[in-house]
Amino acid sequence: MAEPSPIDCDVHPTVPDISVLLPHLEPFWRDSIEERGIPSLDSISYPPKAPLSTRADLRDAKGMPATDAKTLAAQVFDKWGAGTAICNCLYGVQLLFSEDMAKAFASALNDWVAKEWLDRDPRLRASIVVPMQSTEYAVDEIERCAKDKRFVQVLVLAMQEVPLGRRQFWPIYAAAEKHGLPIGIHAGSAYRNPVTSLGWPTYYIEDYLAQAQGFQSQVASLICEGVFAKHPGLKVVLIESGVTWLPGFLWRFSKFWRGLRTEVPWVDRSPWEIVRDHFRLTIQPFDAPDSAEAVERAIEHLRSDDILLYASDYPHWQFDGDAVLPAGISPALKRKIAVDNPLATYARLKDGG
Ligand code: ZN
Repeated sequence: MAEPSPIDCDVHPTVPDISVLLPHLEPFWRDSIEERGIPSLDSISYPPKAPLSTRADLRDAKGMPATDAKTLAAQVFDKWGAGTAICNCLYGVQLLFSEDMAKAFASALNDWVAKEWLDRDPRLRASIVVPMQSTEYAVDEIERCAKDKRFVQVLVLAMQEVPLGRRQFWPIYAAAEKHGLPIGIHAGSAYRNPVTSLGWPTYYIEDYLAQAQGFQSQVASLICEGVFAKHPGLKVVLIESGVTWLPGFLWRFSKFWRGLRTEVPWVDRSPWEIVRDHFRLTIQPFDAPDSAEAVERAIEHLRSDDILLYASDYPHWQFDGDAVLPAGISPALKRKIAVDNPLATYARLKDGG
């Protein structure tokens, strides 16, 4: 029997121009774009011209990565061999200050993804982009999009206005749990706070590096606030988070939990165990040395081979060539990372979407 094809858990469709969203917006918001002269909502977490945002060989004549399903499919399916891919559309709706505007653009974005990407290639799935500016609106958007089984996850950014464990967000987790949708936390910021705890850095490289600290704080917040005690069926996927910071962080977290657990009695087992049961990480960028031995050791330190999910992070420049998975991964582990773990994480993929 043929080996099942990999499931790519992080690919990025690009909005070519704000005009593509116009058919999906109410007249009021269409007029607003024109009257206010809004040129685009590109996320400043991924400046379009930055080398990291799009690998040089994946840029078209205008310097853009795939802005249509066919171009993305040629790379992710035909060249890199995936059989299914989850679209995580990064567009700056999370940065808007108006809750109503964020709701309108998040809905337009999800409708555009469904029509222009999911309808055009049956191998594509997508995450629901939610306006985290308002919990009520975010829940509405989950309920609206969850009817379409091709939406397999809820997408939020690593850096929000407040930590993700806070009670104000719990209705979002209840809706996600009810529909079998993991919460996908992707690198990126709503820029309500400096991206480092020290204040604003100067360079983009510092911003991108600081994302790993943001992920760490979100893991701590979700666990310490008791999200998983309240929602035992909830899964969280850390997307484009990097991987090798996790063992050191969890070692510290679990050590200090032993001393301070009286403060958070609902955290009734070690953070290591909670992460093993509830969290998953996409494999690109894989932040370890190239050698097979080092990769093997880094994976051993994760203490679980259930935790990693195959992802190319198309079109971000995380690796050269066509080997999406780093060397040093055995065929059995490859099968787990590429097929079994994604199927165990995304209930809707198992249902056949
Ligand atoms: Zn990504």
